[in-house]
Amino acid sequence: MSLTEELYQDIILDHSKSPRNFRRPAGEDGFNRVAEGDNPLCGDSYTVHLKLDGDGGTIEDVVFHGDGCAISKASASVMTHMVKGRTVEEARALIQDLKDAVNGPPTEEVDILDFEGDIGAFASLRRYPTRVKCGTLAWNTLRAALDGRDVTVTTE
Ligand code: ZN
Repeated sequence: MSLTEELYQDIILDHSKSPRNFRRPAGEDGFNRVAEGDNPLCGDSYTVHLKLDGDGGTIEDVVFHGDGCAISKASASVMTHMVKGRTVEEARALIQDLKDAVNGPPTEEVDILDFEGDIGAFASLRRYPTRVKCGTLAWNTLRAALDGRDVTVTTE
């Protein structure tokens, strides 16, 4: 395993063991958007709550809860960590970044610096197609919450 791959694994391990923003919102927190995401193939299931500001342009807060494998949990943790305080537009660009990271050609050399924050860590999923849905679940759920769609996102 290359040093870079070890670094990716460390990032995923760290976020899965100590997920950021991993809690249920309290009633007075002012969260105003919610979406659920399910990946039945793996058994990953999360709920993402957003607090959009008055204009709906900035993600003031984001939390998630639920259960799933290490990759799905790490991905949700990275997602909340990265989009908190961002505009909706920036968050949508990050969703695209994550998709580009996991859906690229498996043989391509990936430079972690091509991606913002810890998103590059998930580029290793290119070589594990069955785990791609674990890596994208929280981000698809975020998009549903941003769209205000009152639905459950499912990978199937
Ligand atoms: Zn999974």
